[in-house]
Amino acid sequence: MTKDVSFNRKFECDYGVMVEVTPMIRRIVAQNPGPYTFKGTGTYVVGRGKVAVIDPGPDDPVHVDALLSALDGEEITHQLITHTHIDHSPAAKLVKQRTGAKTYGFGPHGAGKYAQGAVVEAGGDQDFVPDVAIKSGDVIEGEGWTFESVHTPGHTSNHLCFHLREENALFPGDHVMGWSTTVVSPPDGDMADYLASLRMLSERDDAIYYPTHGGPINKPQKYVRAILVHRKLRETQILDCLDKGTTNISDMVARLYKGLDERLIGAARHSVFSHIIDLSNRGVIQANGDIDIAAEYKRVSS
Ligand SMILES: [Zn+2]
Repeated sequence: MTKDVSFNRKFECDYGVMVEVTPMIRRIVAQNPGPYTFKGTGTYVVGRGKVAVIDPGPDDPVHVDALLSALDGEEITHQLITHTHIDHSPAAKLVKQRTGAKTYGFGPHGAGKYAQGAVVEAGGDQDFVPDVAIKSGDVIEGEGWTFESVHTPGHTSNHLCFHLREENALFPGDHVMGWSTTVVSPPDGDMADYLASLRMLSERDDAIYYPTHGGPINKPQKYVRAILVHRKLRETQILDCLDKGTTNISDMVARLYKGLDERLIGAARHSVFSHIIDLSNRGVIQANGDIDIAAEYKRVSS
């Protein structure tokens, strides 16, 4: 899509097979590859004996069976949920039915944006309600492991990252991924929030990230700064489109995302729309009428 960030698309996995990432961290990948999920959802297991699971995955009994059989003789004591997209949280219900393991998350889908958990987009797991609601800075402790949660709204309003103290490692969910940029899709996705969350992460000293999709990210601060530059570039390109008479989002996507996988065009439009909302809110541009994905836009003359 772009050449400014060096994405890492080298990632091998055998579906349903638990692999050791570090002595403390294991991962098993669900067989749900796709344009948004890369090779599939990586469910992380942290600890030995009494373990935490991060993002149990999609509503897929085969994946849950594989996870539980790989953990035969161990006990899942916690399920940590980064956010409520359908490739991350629905398996929590199945895991809970079979193990009783409680779920920890920020709140239902849309929780960070709409108090009522309004229906905000397709792809949200509307059924998920955490057993334990987590705020930024909450500490979740188990046998031999300690997590601190970091609220990172933007991809979704209820997105959390989990910092594993023992390894100074961050599990950033979909907020930062090594293989691709993150979809920021309004109304629950919010570009201003997303950029603020990225800036906040860039100032932390996490040693490594383990995103849900794809491989780990070393030197994560450098990578996060590159993603911020990429977003700034995208914003500049959008303003350039307006200056050259491309005034609606469909035409901008056709110009900016040449050769894009057809299945991703809807997401690209939403991503551009999220920049447009941010630019409109900042008073840089304005819509002809309401701020809408189908509207025409122009620069606000200064
Ligand atoms: Zn997601």
